[in-house]
Amino acid sequence: APAAEDASVLAGLPAGNLNEVESKSIFARFGVPVTREHVAADAAGAAAAARALGGEVVLKILSRAIAHKSDIGGVRVGLTAEEVPEACATMLRRLKDAGAPDPEGFLVQERIRGGVEMILGFHRDPQLGPVILLGSGGVAAELFQDTTLRLLPISRSDAEAMVEELKAARLLQGYRGAPPADVPALVEAVMAFAAMAGAAGERLLEAEINPLFVLPQGQGARAVDGLAVLR
Ligand code: ADP
Ligand code: MG
Repeated sequence: APAAEDASVLAGLPAGNLNEVESKSIFARFGVPVTREHVAADAAGAAAAARALGGEVVLKILSRAIAHKSDIGGVRVGLTAEEVPEACATMLRRLKDAGAPDPEGFLVQERIRGGVEMILGFHRDPQLGPVILLGSGGVAAELFQDTTLRLLPISRSDAEAMVEELKAARLLQGYRGAPPADVPALVEAVMAFAAMAGAAGERLLEAEINPLFVLPQGQGARAVDGLAVLR
């Protein structure tokens, strides 16, 4: 169908993996909270973006061709603006060494600190249909299987039950002196992500937020990474 007839949020976007900014922009339109960030074309632009954001930043390679940025040294957490240009040069060199195509740019984003890392996913199960996944992210995800699934659509009580089913529920409540996490914000993020998956239409094959940082009570949640796969 001609693009003009495609009223979906995916209109004009290509098939295959979208990059982090394209993916999170879709999620954000449905209310998923995302990091403050800027796209830069070169090292000087990235340094300027880092100064504009202020404080320590995260520098990432922005590329549809790279779904797992850290695998090729494409994520640097906690840089000052002064450190950004050299980090950009190193990233580009590694990208070339790996034979990857030219990236869309550099992504400079605020560094998120504290909180509990979670994973939110969407895929189309051949048997079940469209499925939402919530799980532990970060180190916890590697240590123990901690995920829960629901068929779309989901209600708010489904989203709340998903959170309660996880082993991470204890972590979120504030484990061993850690501050309790913003569970209502996590539930909102699950609802927003599920609404996005339901509304995006058949072209959306898969979507993932890994990680979603759930900050201490009252501070919300933040998607720091995102991947959407279209057909
Ligand atoms: P990848 O494509 O490798 O999954 P991510 O964007 O998820 O790259 O970054 C890798 C890791 O770096 C994340 O799992 C998270 O722990 C950390 N990280 C990424 N972005 C941020 C950020 N804005 N603030 C704090 N930590 C971050
Ligand atoms: Mg990630």
